[in-house]
Amino acid sequence: MFDKILIANRGEIALRILRAAKELGIATVAVHSTADADAMHVRLADESVCIGPPAARDSYLNIPSIIAACEITGADAVHPGYGFLSENARFAEVLAHHNIGFIGPKAEHIRIMGDKIEAKRTAKRLGIPCVPGSEGGVTDPDEAKRVAAEIGYPVLVKAASGGGGRGMKVARSESELEQALDMARTEAKAAFGDDAVYLEKYLTKPRHIEVQILGDGKGHAVHLAERDCSLQRRHQKVWEEGGSPALNEAMRAEIGGICANAMRELGYLGAGTIEFLYEDGRFYFIEMNTRIQVEHPVTEMITGIDLVNEQIRVAAGGGLSVAQEDIKVEGHAIECRINAEHPSTFRPSPGLITYFHPPGGLGVRVDSAAFQGYRIPSNYDSLIGKLIVHGRTRNECLMRLRRALDEFVVDGIDTTLPLFRTLVRNADVQNGLYDIHWLEGFLAREELNGVETRR
Ligand code: ADP
Repeated sequence: MFDKILIANRGEIALRILRAAKELGIATVAVHSTADADAMHVRLADESVCIGPPAARDSYLNIPSIIAACEITGADAVHPGYGFLSENARFAEVLAHHNIGFIGPKAEHIRIMGDKIEAKRTAKRLGIPCVPGSEGGVTDPDEAKRVAAEIGYPVLVKAASGGGGRGMKVARSESELEQALDMARTEAKAAFGDDAVYLEKYLTKPRHIEVQILGDGKGHAVHLAERDCSLQRRHQKVWEEGGSPALNEAMRAEIGGICANAMRELGYLGAGTIEFLYEDGRFYFIEMNTRIQVEHPVTEMITGIDLVNEQIRVAAGGGLSVAQEDIKVEGHAIECRINAEHPSTFRPSPGLITYFHPPGGLGVRVDSAAFQGYRIPSNYDSLIGKLIVHGRTRNECLMRLRRALDEFVVDGIDTTLPLFRTLVRNADVQNGLYDIHWLEGFLAREELNGVETRR
């Protein structure tokens, strides 16, 4: 097992990793930018090292600084969290070169899944159902037209290096295709430095359902059921729940089994998420994330399994602590991403938190690095915490979430808490009747009606 883990991240996920390391009896090192000198992850770690100025590219993305911090403190492994360097294959290789463990997958698997064209090809080979589309990249408009006619309109042009919903353009007919292709390529080149794009059938009313998996890198892999992340704004997840209101136990076992088998065949190491769109009873692979995800606590609440603990165990060469038959889904869990943003304009609201009172009680978990007197810097993303609630049934979970949201007080800044108080009272949300476009429609209607209904 590792003796000392350096956490190459900040905010709530840095705390989450600290907690798992401490429970394993492993010493912890926090790294931070100058903007984060008094952050909670720095206060709670055994040691801390300043790795640079506020801009992420000079600190949390600065590989030489992080390696130096490992060498100074004697850390023998790094946990990258999510975002930042978590899906950077070169970082994993540089760490290996310095004899430092990487708590994440093998570099080759990060690389395959980081290229969406290659990821889709691999998924198909492993027996995972995919969205119909081009076999590889497309550059020539005539070829694109041929493929689009075959799969049928509307089609989506997607960037091979895409992320965060960027570099995606819909073409509803052949007359729109050439322009969509041009626009997607230009956007992809600007955002990712790579203009490779591919075509996919555009699904008009899908849900986003993803399967959590864990592998030991030696041919054992399990699935830990699914999360439904259909409530999205600008392709970004807002509310996540598990299990999906659209699946029953047999469907869960079937798609979960397909994913676990594929990961077994790949020899996958660590935690990963296989993302699907789900429409009319069918699953379509869109991408795989080779890291711990923001919404992982949903799975922890319904299975009782500590995913970060499992990541650390397998990265150190141990086995998974659970076999497939030990993993049971109990009850229902929902996560709300609380952002420091205005609840209807979504304008970021960094600044001083003058009062902070998180909810508590049975089945309520708050993962947050915020506290009263904390000043949120403007340099990083606006997630300030996650409220995760568990109940024996979905209905109990919704009632508990409503209660917990009403208890939660954050003063001094704007947060998205009022949006969740409205959502939890909405009939479609209560009935689980939503797809990936539902939230955008709801927000547009709310805007027309005024935001007075929000508290
Ligand atoms: P990114 O890596 O940019 O997040 P994804 O491939 O994961 O891109 O897609 C993000 C979101 O975009 C999905 O959750 C879904 O809302 C939408 N999307 C992606 N592919 C399709 C598709 N073929 N049809 C309809 N919507 C899609």
